[in-house]
Amino acid sequence: AAKNDGRGRARTFNRSMMIMLEQREMLRRSLRVALQEQQFFIEYQPLVEIADGIIGFEALLRWRHPYAGVVPPSLFIPMAEADGLMGDIGAWVLEQACREASTWPSHFIVSVNLSPAEFLRAGFTDRITRILDEVGFPADRLELEITETVLLERTTNNLDTLHTLEVLGTRIALDDFGTRYSSLSYLQSFPFDTIKIDKHFINDVETNPKSQTIVRFIIGLAHGLGMRVTAEGVETAGQAGWLSRKKCDRLQGNLLGAPMSADAIGDFLRQSSFEML
Ligand code: C2E
Ligand code: MG
Ligand code: MG
Ligand code: MG
Repeated sequence: AAKNDGRGRARTFNRSMMIMLEQREMLRRSLRVALQEQQFFIEYQPLVEIADGIIGFEALLRWRHPYAGVVPPSLFIPMAEADGLMGDIGAWVLEQACREASTWPSHFIVSVNLSPAEFLRAGFTDRITRILDEVGFPADRLELEITETVLLERTTNNLDTLHTLEVLGTRIALDDFGTRYSSLSYLQSFPFDTIKIDKHFINDVETNPKSQTIVRFIIGLAHGLGMRVTAEGVETAGQAGWLSRKKCDRLQGNLLGAPMSADAIGDFLRQSSFEML
């Protein structure tokens, strides 16, 4: 019986693998028209400064597929990158995020994720300048989130891009810190405003001494270099309390507010208070 079970399971597994592959191909094909069909939208997640309360939102891209429903970015962004679509999609995100953010209280920032391909593309900083001009959005209210992957190739090119952005006055955040190919040397040469600690380390920060050591280390490192620190994926008051005691500057996560549609922001701001901090 065990043998039959095993074979049955193997067959089922193969079939579902086929279905998965077909679905991926279907998604990939429909991704080509998603932009012109206006299937993308942005959700915004609050960024909360422990000392000052809410300071703005991170823009998180969503794709509403006509049949498949809302597809998570972890699934479609790698496809879009592989197919060379992320440049155009990224430009749309930047413009849309700046437009929507220009209706928010005037001290709020909007933080936008950049994929490596976008960042490394020639003319990237010109495009940022053009978008800020067209929308009439101040550079210092735009924060750009890049990951360590961008810095892997330490070409003069990416250094130049970062310094041009600094001159333009945009803020630069280092996202998912500690999860990729970390090398500390680039922290000497790149002008980051903020380091974001990946939610992986925040998840068990109350109970796991190793996570505690890593988080304390990142906070100390950032502060020593004159950078701010954001903790991602904060879900419990216990985590928020621990991070606050360790002098983390900003919190982001479902405890403070889950990603929400642009329309929901007004109500959220009227109702929110962060007394748990
Ligand atoms: P990220 O930039 O690190 O964004 C944070 C992720 O954590 C988001 O996932 C957010 O929904 C999730 N999150 C927030 N609070 C919590 C929490 O309390 N618990 C848990 N478990 N998760 C939480 P999301 O929206 O699925 O995005 C995944 C990734 O996709 C982002 O990670 C970012 O790397 C990428 N991404 C999203 N939008 C864009 C975009 O416009 N452009 C590019 N290039 N990448 C994007
Ligand atoms: Mg991010
Ligand atoms: Mg700066
Ligand atoms: Mg992150």
